[in-house]
Order: sequence, then structure tokens, then C-alpha cells
Amino acid sequence: MKIAGRYGRFKPKAHQSDFYAKRAKREAQARREAAGSLNAWLERHKTCANGCGQPVAFYDNIHYALRYSGCCSAQCELEREERMRELLTYWAVGVDGARIVGGSNFTAATMDEVFLSPTTKLAGWKKHAMLDSSELAQAFADALTDVIAKRQGVPVKLRVVEMQVGGSSKAHEAQRTVIAAHSAEVRERLKRGEFAPNKRVLDLQGP
Ligand SMILES: [Zn+2]
Repeated sequence: MKIAGRYGRFKPKAHQSDFYAKRAKREAQARREAAGSLNAWLERHKTCANGCGQPVAFYDNIHYALRYSGCCSAQCELEREERMRELLTYWAVGVDGARIVGGSNFTAATMDEVFLSPTTKLAGWKKHAMLDSSELAQAFADALTDVIAKRQGVPVKLRVVEMQVGGSSKAHEAQRTVIAAHSAEVRERLKRGEFAPNKRVLDLQGP
């Protein structure tokens, strides 16, 4: 077996053949892996990222470089960018001055900000109440200020925080569902004056 070496093709000596056989095997394996990852990448970019169903446009015939950021055309790329820029707005209630003690508040303690959950618990970023209006958030904050202060044993300040999140329309659709559920839960709690976290008010799987 001849090998392509630094100074041209040569036939390895007997004691070298094992080394070169292993190297050839390694290189073949690397080639297979590269082909596999290229195929996986192509699989992800079969149709337009804008969701129009057209095939993705590439710069070249061998399909190595996406032409319109994974879209079929400049038009779809523009549409997709516009959509990604759209922001979804909702309101949350931030809690200042709360004392965080281990346990279930641990997540909140590791966050920069502490919020109210829809079931009136202190929550971090993941479980905060996402509300559909600033008025609702203000009413929730007003109603809970004394409740949280009493629970905490220290004065706290509750404030309305306007949140804006970017993302796809699909992500926004899912977030709107959460906002609707949280807002309904909070409205019902305000109506009943029920602020005990362990009391189930609506059928919300609260945090
Ligand atoms: Zn398209």
C-alpha cells in the first residue's frame, strides 16, 4: 500500500505499516463523521425558515452555504426578521426587600429579581406571574403588599414591571396562553380576596 507522504508517495516499511493503517482508519472515520454532520445540517435546512414550504436557497450547487439565513428568498428572510422583531408585552410584579430563605425560594434567591407568582408565592424568573395589563399588576401589587410584608416579617415594596419579550409567533402564542391563565388566576384571587398560596383558586397548575 502506497502512502501520500510529505515528499511524495512512498511505501511504508514493515514496522511503519501499523502506524499508517491506523492513521488511514482515523481519517476515514473523520470523513464519515463530517459527511454525517453535513447531512444532519442539510436535514434541518430542507424548507424555508419562514415556514412558507419552499425549499431553502443556497449560494452554491453543493449546498454548503445558506443564502437567505435559511429562508427560500429575500422576501421570506425580510418577513421572518420583521416577525422576530415583534415584541410581546406583559406585566409582572417585582418584590423589593424580601428575605429569601432556602427551600422553594432557592430559585428566586439565585435570581437578580424576585417576583410574585400567580399563586402569590415569591418566584424567580421562571415562575413569575405574567399578567395581561398594568392595571391588573398594580391591583395585585397593592393587594399583596401587606400580605407579603406580614409573611416575610419585613416591609416590602411591590412594583409593576413591564416585560417585553421577542421571539417567534409560535413562542408568543404559547406565552399568550400562559398570560391568560395567570391573569385569570390573579383576577379570581383579587375578587375573592384569597391570597393563600396553598388554596387552589382556578385550575391553574401554579408554581
Ligand atoms: Zn420562504
